[in-house]
Amino acid sequence: MDECRKARFAALVSSPFAMFPESVTSLPKAELHLHLEGSIQPSTVCALTARNGITVTEEEVRRRYAYTNFLEFLEAFKWVTSFLREPEDYALITREIAEHLLSQRVIYAEVTLSIGVMLLRKQSPEKNFEAILAAAEPFEKRGLRINWIFDAVRQFGPEAAMRVVEAATQCASKSIVAFGIGGDELSVPTVELRSVYEQAAAGGLHRLIHAGEVGGPETIREAIELLGAERIGHGIAAINDPALMDLLADRRIPLEICPTSNIRTGALARQLGRSEVGIDDHPLPALFRHGIPVVLSTDDPAMFHVTLAEEYKHAYQLGMTEHELLRLAQMSFDFAFEQRHSQMAR
Ligand SMILES: [Zn+2]
Repeated sequence: MDECRKARFAALVSSPFAMFPESVTSLPKAELHLHLEGSIQPSTVCALTARNGITVTEEEVRRRYAYTNFLEFLEAFKWVTSFLREPEDYALITREIAEHLLSQRVIYAEVTLSIGVMLLRKQSPEKNFEAILAAAEPFEKRGLRINWIFDAVRQFGPEAAMRVVEAATQCASKSIVAFGIGGDELSVPTVELRSVYEQAAAGGLHRLIHAGEVGGPETIREAIELLGAERIGHGIAAINDPALMDLLADRRIPLEICPTSNIRTGALARQLGRSEVGIDDHPLPALFRHGIPVVLSTDDPAMFHVTLAEEYKHAYQLGMTEHELLRLAQMSFDFAFEQRHSQMAR
């Protein structure tokens, strides 16, 4: 660690974030990688379970919201989504995420919906999405615009993913801007997802995927070359492949970087080949300074106990300058799939 960063860490320990630039705090922001179902606060999980006559304490939710590895996180995600049973449940959590985003000065968000999970539970994506849109609509008057990403679960396989693309077509809403795949990226080879992405693109959807989170750099390369991925969810594995870093920078393909998520799921420890890592080990500055576009996000803010404001503070803690943080904030507008907000942060 150089002297400048040492001094900054010392100051942060005595008074966390005291020096954080006000210009960054006050800026309107965009967030492009966050999951609706990962944004359910413990008190809301209890409200959802109560609707179904199940008693769960907030303490139990907090215990579930702690993981030692990525698969444990996926288990917790599965657990919390099991309480989303009716369209009104989705409406409730949509209002919650919208309030949360406004509290973070977010004026534009692309929120991921786990349509794959809805289909697995034999729910109607159309009915759920109708309730979600109705719940989000009043927030537009308060200055928050949300678009949606329909997401499939990789380990459910290509056929299930195709059903998600079809659900997007059936919902027929301009606010569905992209198709994505999350979940266990080590489960299904990328090449098997090719026709699903072709179908999504033919339907006018942008193409996203979680890659290089726990998988190696080759998963990112394949996502770009085989699937035409336009942004990469996480992509931290790129730090281990300089040629791939060049490719991402040259082709202006953004990484959706979610630092706290990478710590809490063990993804960063895995990529760095170490048993324990902290925020100060995150490669965000290295990726950014290599010229790779980066959009800073929280992924699952409730499940990782983090806010977007805190992620900007982490970036500062990592040594990024005020100027770099302002550029970082701007990138989340520049690489959004809806461009009408792109001037807001300038
Ligand atoms: Zn994610």
